[in-house]
Amino acid sequence: MPTQVEEYQQILQETQHNQASLIAVSKTKPAAMIKDLYDKGQRDFGENRALELAEKYEQLPQDIRWHMIGHLQTNKVKYIAPFIHLIHSVDRFKVLKEINKQAEKNERIIDCLLQFHIAEEESKFGFDKIEVQEMLSSETFTQLKNVRILGVMGMATFTDDMVQVRKEFGQLKQIFDYLKETYFAAQDSFKEISMGMSGDYKIALEEGSTMVRVGSLIFGARNT
Ligand SMILES: *Cc1c(COP(=O)(O)O)cnc(C)c1O
Repeated sequence: MPTQVEEYQQILQETQHNQASLIAVSKTKPAAMIKDLYDKGQRDFGENRALELAEKYEQLPQDIRWHMIGHLQTNKVKYIAPFIHLIHSVDRFKVLKEINKQAEKNERIIDCLLQFHIAEEESKFGFDKIEVQEMLSSETFTQLKNVRILGVMGMATFTDDMVQVRKEFGQLKQIFDYLKETYFAAQDSFKEISMGMSGDYKIALEEGSTMVRVGSLIFGARNT
């Protein structure tokens, strides 16, 4: 299935209208499809598996900004640490420490978002508020010099109930506001709220999203 260019341009317009950015989620799609969208001007691409991401990084233009959006195992961090633009899916302290370690090895600072569990479903990864409070007020956290936290990320429940989805995005916005006020008031770069996918990105934008992650609407359904 070819890239849906008209859909893409419309979503891009809507996100730009809301001063948000559009991450094109290219997981499972071939490099050639990514290159097609790159040629239309898209530079931010999201993947959910570290090895697939690293492979595509090798094959594609070097000025692509790669976003890691899927659950990240600590032993895979090293494959993306040299070049990753933003890791949206930091869902436990352990992986943040490993990201810091690999960033140090590569002599860089890696930007990260804290993923929160906002959905009703059990299966979604992410911190809850208490875990994050403990982490952010710990001595160990203050010693991580090679990671920078830019904001939060979350996935709403997979449902047609848009009242529910809106409520969950509202919760993520509240968590963001709380963290900003409590821990990051002095850090201007703490300003990102990554929320919204193909089915709910419009609601996410209305609820304050600064980054939407859209896959199937742009690239077509995934056959997995
Ligand atoms: C796959 C995925 C998306 C994109 O999903 P679509 O419904 O295809 O737009 C967004 N965020 C995450 C974390 C994903 O894994």
